[in-house]
Amino acid sequence: MLLSGFKLEIFKSHCDSQAKGVHCFAHLNDDISEALPYLNTVLGASVYITEPPSLMLQVHGKLITLESRKIAVNALKDRAEAEKIVAWLQREINDAWRSRHEIEPSTEALGKPVLLEVLKRLPRTNCRQCGEATCMVFASRVVEGSLDQEDCPPIDPQARIELKEYLSRFRFEY
Ligand code: SF4
Repeated sequence: MLLSGFKLEIFKSHCDSQAKGVHCFAHLNDDISEALPYLNTVLGASVYITEPPSLMLQVHGKLITLESRKIAVNALKDRAEAEKIVAWLQREINDAWRSRHEIEPSTEALGKPVLLEVLKRLPRTNCRQCGEATCMVFASRVVEGSLDQEDCPPIDPQARIELKEYLSRFRFEY
């Protein structure tokens, strides 16, 4: 096991004290920098930085940053959700490290979903049933990771499946 444990620090946004939800830092017991290229192959980071080593993931609208000794997660409901996500990351880090002899390490970022690829699967009627001003705004929220195919009520069932498949290349279940 590479990562034996962590200590959570939960805090509110420093920029908006009225904001709902919390952010967290997980202070890691162990240095995970050597595992990051293997984890990147498994999970596919949207951003990968080699020096100092860190990667960023988008998971269910949350931005997760992993550094050698710290994990940061934003837009959490509460401490319970923070614990669940960091425990999932601990499992993924340890699984990737355990399987490193079978994994080709990578420092290439997988990238974000492409706006046009999202937009072309939407009805493009600007009907506003999703609560956004236009389909373009909706698509940009999808690219950020805060919305997905389930948030567009009139989307065609086949397009819903295709968009879900497309987004699954960039997002993960925890
Ligand atoms: S509900 Fe769907 S079709 Fe309507 S504006 Fe939103 S994204 Fe476009």
